[in-house]
This record gives sequence, C-alpha cells and structure tokens, in this order.
Amino acid sequence: MTIEPMRGRLRLFLELAGLTAAYVVAAKLGLMMDAVAGFATLVWPASGLSLAALLLFGNRLWPAIALGAFLSNLWTGAPPLVAMGIALGNTLEALAGTAAIRYLPGFSPACERVRDALALVFVALSSTTVSATLGVLSLTAGGIVDAESFAETWRAWWIGDTIGDLVVAPLLLVWASKPVAGLRGAGRVEAALLAAALVGMGLFIFGTHASSRIVGQAYFLCPLLIWAALRFGQRGAISATFVASVISITGTALGGGPFVAGTLHQSLLMLQLFMAITAATFLVLGASVLERRKAVRDLRVSQEGLETRVEEGTMALNRANERLCLLKQLEEAVNARDALISIASHELRTPLAAMQLHLDLMTRAILKHPEQESAPDRMMAKLVTFERQIGRLSRLIDHLLDVSRITAGRLELALEEVDLTAVAHDVADRFDEVVRRAECVVTLRAEVPVVGSWDRLRVEQIITNLLSNAAKYGSGRPIDIEVDGDGDTARLVVRDHGIGIPAEDLARIFERFERLLAGRDAPGFGLGLWIVRQVVDGLGGQIRVTSEVGAGTTFIVELPRRPPVDRPARATELAANLKRQSQPRAFELARKN
Ligand code: ADP
Repeated sequence: MTIEPMRGRLRLFLELAGLTAAYVVAAKLGLMMDAVAGFATLVWPASGLSLAALLLFGNRLWPAIALGAFLSNLWTGAPPLVAMGIALGNTLEALAGTAAIRYLPGFSPACERVRDALALVFVALSSTTVSATLGVLSLTAGGIVDAESFAETWRAWWIGDTIGDLVVAPLLLVWASKPVAGLRGAGRVEAALLAAALVGMGLFIFGTHASSRIVGQAYFLCPLLIWAALRFGQRGAISATFVASVISITGTALGGGPFVAGTLHQSLLMLQLFMAITAATFLVLGASVLERRKAVRDLRVSQEGLETRVEEGTMALNRANERLCLLKQLEEAVNARDALISIASHELRTPLAAMQLHLDLMTRAILKHPEQESAPDRMMAKLVTFERQIGRLSRLIDHLLDVSRITAGRLELALEEVDLTAVAHDVADRFDEVVRRAECVVTLRAEVPVVGSWDRLRVEQIITNLLSNAAKYGSGRPIDIEVDGDGDTARLVVRDHGIGIPAEDLARIFERFERLLAGRDAPGFGLGLWIVRQVVDGLGGQIRVTSEVGAGTTFIVELPRRPPVDRPARATELAANLKRQSQPRAFELARKN
C-alpha cells in the first residue's frame, strides 16, 4: 500500500473521530437542557454541526453522525435499539438537508445570496422533521414516550434541531468557507464595541438579576444584530446571532430573562421560538447586505467597463471621422480634378478651333491659286492670329502647371536681385498688342528702380495676370500701373476703370476656380488671381483689392524687399494650407456644375 491512500484513510479516520467527538459533546450539551423524556431537547446544536460537516467535507462523514448520535443517546440511557433509531433519524436528517441544499444550483456555504440563506431556512424547517419523527417514533417504540406526549416531544425535538440548523450550521459554514479577512484599525474597534454591546445587552436582558419579565425586552437585541449585519455582513449577522443565542439560552436556563416561565422547558420553548425567527431574519438580512454590496461593486465595475467602452467607442468614432474626412478630401480632390479637366478642355478647345479655322483658310487660299503666291499681308495677318492663340494656349498650360505645382507644395522660388520697375516696363511692352486690341491705354508710373530679392518669372507672372485681367474686364478704358517702394517694401498697383467687382465677391475671386463671369466674353480658368496670391504669399507679401461696380478695380501688391528668413519653410507650410483650403472651393464649384 502506498503512502497516499494511507494518508487519505488516516485523514478520514481522524475526521470521523473528530466529528463523532464533537457531536457527542454538542449532543450532551443539548441533553442537559431539560429534555422531554430525557431525549427531546429544545437545544440541539448537533443538528447544525452535522449539516455543516456534510456540506463542507462531503457525505462520507455520515458515519460520524450516526455513531455520535448513537453513543450520546446510549450514554443518556437509551436502549441500544432506540439509540439506533434516533441515530438513524439524525443521520438521515443531515443527509436530506445536504441533498436539498446541493440541489440548489450555485449554493455558496458562505450564504452570500438571499436565495442561499432562504435555502438554509427551508432545510432547517423541513429536514428536521425527519429526525424528530424517527426519533420520537423510536422513543415511543421503546416505551420511553407515551402516545399523549408524542406531539410535545416531537415539537421540542423539531424546534431544537431547527435552531441548531439556523444558528450553528451558518456559523460553521460562514467561518469555514472563506478565509478570514482581518479587520483593521477602525473596523477592529467597531467590532470590539459591537461585541461588548452585545454581551452587555445579553447580560442585561437575560441576567439572573433581571426583575422585569417583559418579552419585548428581548427585542433590544435587534438593533445590535442589525448593526452587525449592516457593518459586518453575513459573518457579523451570524456570529452576533450565535452569541445572542448562547447568552440567552444560558441566561434562561439559569432562570433569568423575559422568557422565564414555570418550567425550564416552557422557558426554553418561548426563547427558542423567538430565536428561530431572529436567526432566520438576520441570516436573510446578512445575505441581502452582501448581495447589495456585491451589486454596488458590480455596478461600479460595469460602469467603469461602460466608461472604457464609451472611451473606446469615441476613439473609434474619431478614427472613423478622420477616415471620413480623408475620404471627403479625396472626393473633393477628385471633384477638383474633374472640374479642372472640364474647364481646361473647354478653354483649350477655343484657341485650337480658331487656329484650325485659320489653317483651313490658308490651305484653301493656296489650293485655289497654286500658281500665285498668296498675298503676304493676308498670310501675315493669319500668322499673327496663330501666334496669339498659341500664346493663349501656353498661358493656359502654364496655369495648369502652376496649379499642380502649388497644390503639390512644389512652388519653388528662384530668388535673385530683381528690379520691379524694369519688370513692369517689360511686361507692359510685351502686352502692348493685347492692350491695344482691348482698346485700352496703359499709363505706367514707374520711374525709379525698386530692387528686391524675388523670383523674376513669378513677379512677371503677378503683373501679367493683373494686367491681362485689367484689359479683359476694363476694355476700352485706361489702365494705370504704379511701382514704388520704401526701404523695406515694394508696392505694385494695377488699376483699371472697368466693370468692377461687387463687394461681396471681393474675397472669393482669390480662390481657385472662382469666376464672376463665364463665357466667350471673359475666357479664363478662374486661376489667375489664385496663382497671384500664392506667389505673393510665397514671397512673404500681401495683395489687396478695392473695387466699385462700374467704376473699376485696383489691385495693390506689397512685397518685402528681402523675403522672410523662414521663407522656404513658410512656402511649404503655405502650400499645405492652400491644398487644404482650396479643396472645398473646388468641391463647391464641382457641385454647382
Ligand atoms: P479668370 O481667368 O477668370 O480671369 P482670375 O482668377 O484671374 O480668373 O479672376 C477671377 C475672377 O475675378 C474673374 O473671373 C473675374 O470675374 C474677376 N476679376 C478679376 N480681375 C478683375 C478685374 N480687374 N475687374 C473685374 N473683375 C475681375
């Protein structure tokens, strides 16, 4: 035989012996209490002990109950057969009670749920009938109890066992089922105070000196039991009930307290009825306190969980929002691209159609008179038209290139010493033909050189765009160009006397694709001023416009002669900003279309 099974057997033997001994002691204590016919006692802690033992250690300990009951009854004077009958009843009572409780799913010996407490009460009331019935039948069969005393004996037996189950079993179950969590500081003081108050009150009510016999006095215990339940949960409630029970039984047995009647049996009967109700009530109260505490804890945990979930949800929502924004930006970018393609194709077709027409005319003229050289003047006129249309095409293509560069943040500025006055003269000269065709007269007030560190081509582009707009929207009227400056800043003014711009539109003309007029009269992309503003921003300057409808428009550009130190960084940042700002506009335009 190996060591393990031997140990197991030894352990079982010790457990059986220990329980048998404890049973005999508990039974003898009870039998001391004026038992009916010497056996049916109102105080029977052994029933609670058996129930708790089987619940905690398993049914295998039943022989200890049988043996303990048999021995104690034999010791008290019962004939062996009667003692065996009583032992059978006591054993079956414990087994039936255990089976009933185990039938309840999830029963916790700590009685932390109201349903566990109620189950224990139910078992205390019902399983004890088995022992009472078999026990009294055995006594009757043994001739120890006569038929008349049957009911009284049965009642004493049943009450004694019930109280045992209600007071002793929960005490053992609760203290054995969970590790004892030590009280600290204030908790210990409070527990000591409660214990002192309980013992003091118990002695006061059940002390032998008690002269008053008012039953209501017993209820003085209730506030203390409530205190125990509310502050110390199930352990507090059950322990306090046990202490109260011990004091009250001892006091009553010694002839003190409100329940004292003619005989000890009568006194104990009254007391135990009171104790049965008290024990059951506080067992349930203790459980409901624990259940409430657990509910509060669970609520807090679920609230925290909810908060975490809300946080996670918010984060997910934010991420979804970001993705939505990106999608929207993408959609806007696609729309802007579509708008650009549609405008570009429309605008590019116009000069191409004109060039195609003039090419046809020239071809036909040559085919009609192949022998004749076509008149050079007429050919020249057509070539001029050709050149003009090609110039227009190039400008459109330049604009398209600029849009893609600026939007991609690749607006590179090649800084060099530039004289704004000289550039203004150059552009005005180059525009002579355009201006003449628009029947405008340009007055250029730019006498002294105004030199700064700028990108020559971009500065030309600023003046070109403003001047071509002045000719386009102010045809037949004069145009003034001024260039001047102080120590830090150069100033360019382009003023026309044309159709003007309504005040409410002044801001949006600098946005991409924004056009107040569209059609043959005013061809364009709606990009010229946008590009001007990007370039001016890139150079660290600013552009302003004033206008009056029907009276004309003035654009004022101010450029610092030295670009800001952080210009390159600024240019990149600017490009990024532009990219963001401009997209919604494009989107709006696309929607309008
Ligand atoms: P566009 O290619 O259409 O001229 P711009 O960006 O240069 O594009 O100008 C945007 C719009 O601002 C024009 O369509 C026009 O309606 C208005 N605008 C620009 N300059 C003038 C001006 N000098 N006088 C009146 N309106 C102007």
